[in-house]
Amino acid sequence: MIRSVVVVGGGTAGWMTASYLKAAFADRVDVTVVESAQVSRIGVGEATFSTVRHFFDYLGLDEADWLPKCAGGYKLGIRFEDWSAPGEYFYHPFERLSVVDGFSMADWWLQLGDRSEPFDRSCFITTALCEAKRSPRMLDGSLFASGLDNDLGKSTLDEQRAQFPYAYHFDADAVAAYLAEYGRQRGVKHVIDDVVDVAQDERGWISHVTTASRGDLAGDLFIDCTGFRGLLINQTLGEKFESFEDVLPNNRAVALRVPREESTDMAPYTTATAMNAGWMWTIPLFRRNGNGYVYSDRFISPEEAEAELRAKVAPERDDLQANHIRMRIGRNRDSWVKNCVAIGLSSAFVEPLESTGIFFIQHAVEQLVKHFPDERFDPRMTAAYNTRVARAVDGVKEFLVLHYKAARREDTPYWKEAKLRPAPDGLVEKLDLARAKLFCEETIYPYYHGFESYSWNAMTLGLGHLPDAPHPALRHLEPANAVAEFARLKAEGEALVRALPSCYEYLASIND
Ligand SMILES: Cc1cc2nc3c(=O)[nH]c(=O)nc-3n(C[C@H](O)[C@H](O)[C@H](O)COP(=O)(O)OP(=O)(O)OC[C@H]3O[C@@H](n4cnc5c(N)ncnc54)[C@H](O)[C@@H]3O)c2cc1C
Repeated sequence: MIRSVVVVGGGTAGWMTASYLKAAFADRVDVTVVESAQVSRIGVGEATFSTVRHFFDYLGLDEADWLPKCAGGYKLGIRFEDWSAPGEYFYHPFERLSVVDGFSMADWWLQLGDRSEPFDRSCFITTALCEAKRSPRMLDGSLFASGLDNDLGKSTLDEQRAQFPYAYHFDADAVAAYLAEYGRQRGVKHVIDDVVDVAQDERGWISHVTTASRGDLAGDLFIDCTGFRGLLINQTLGEKFESFEDVLPNNRAVALRVPREESTDMAPYTTATAMNAGWMWTIPLFRRNGNGYVYSDRFISPEEAEAELRAKVAPERDDLQANHIRMRIGRNRDSWVKNCVAIGLSSAFVEPLESTGIFFIQHAVEQLVKHFPDERFDPRMTAAYNTRVARAVDGVKEFLVLHYKAARREDTPYWKEAKLRPAPDGLVEKLDLARAKLFCEETIYPYYHGFESYSWNAMTLGLGHLPDAPHPALRHLEPANAVAEFARLKAEGEALVRALPSCYEYLASIND
């Protein structure tokens, strides 16, 4: 029986893992988190995926309690700016497309759509809320969309049925601190010290870690949450890290925390703006924005990137400290090796586009519980875990490469090269097929990776990668139902804009 788990690292990954294990197993498993006071957390990771709701509900946390303590805001989707041409934008919302007479509204838009109204604003309701910067909740706390689960209870990503309509923005350090408090209250032992050695037994399995001043910490199972350094999985066990830089070359980021001039002007979405040698995130928290430029240092130096970022978001704020970060893009061949499971940046990272870092952590920890070992460490269970984790990462990799392949921008060497870079196997064929017929669940990456076909279509249509012609069958179908659905989407969007408070107004009401 596995009785003790040692988590090395106290960033978002370490504390999400420890708190989730406690929520799942309570006192039946001992959990210790050891984190260094010298090595700081990565300090970014502020936008999430709508499925993160399963995580917080699993822990039994009330949004109205934790969100204000983490400077949080809402995210209804991502707004992509300048990816095709300067001034152009579109949204990738957390909203499935409705289906009329067997065809999605994206198909109907190609056939009937008023091209003066872009695809995203014709086919989704959430985009109207984004444009008007509305909260997804009424002032009484009720969710804007009926029929969508509100409290998901102790459910996991595997059980996701409805698309939860929003995700969060939050201060990553504050979330780690909040979860640390949650974990400690439920019995997680917290050791603040440096791990200076990792001991292995004769089979090469980890027997204990040695700390600088608190002696040895022994355990049955070790979780490596040490970030990009991969202290246990890579440095000790020597597991191979497979780089994705051939297809996703952004290897650095520079981040700035910028106080918002007008704190009430708060967007309920992340913005991803194309830049000369990469793209920039804007993540609105309750009183400040997180900004960061993700780029490839083959095209621009860190100093040039910082200057381009500052000019864009804080031209008169030389006092703001920039945080330069090197990124390791790719994944471990296996994230679970012997009695060590790497979760977080030590396992995999594909760059922050589409905000999947925290999603990977959630997915990994859920899968860890579903594949939790006994003393035999059945290799078939370990292999099954590794396959699921690797597939989720590989699917996201493919989806992100699609962003660069489908983007029409070609005005700098970086964007010119984006068209010529290799792509993961099969993606070129998928994009070609999408010129004949929109994506469906059968034609996107076939394993669970967090994105559904509506997301793949939202990106290609938003970026202007359209099919050559509308679906031929639609010429033979009576369009009345689809026309009515376009009208319903528009009317519902307008009614919600009138009824909902602004994003800031609602958050201010729960921040009191
Ligand atoms: C530029 C950038 C932007 C990102 N944006 C997003 C985003 O918007 N959304 C999203 O979901 N994800 C994002 N991510 C990913 C996200 O930040 C991470 O997935 C998340 O923060 C988890 O980090 P971590 O805990 O794995 O590592 P870290 O935060 O690096 O934590 C490592 C921990 O290990 C400890 N440690 C290291 N060595 C030792 C030692 N020897 N002894 C003891 N302790 C040790 C450190 O003290 C620290 O506590 C982003 C990442 C980057 C790089």
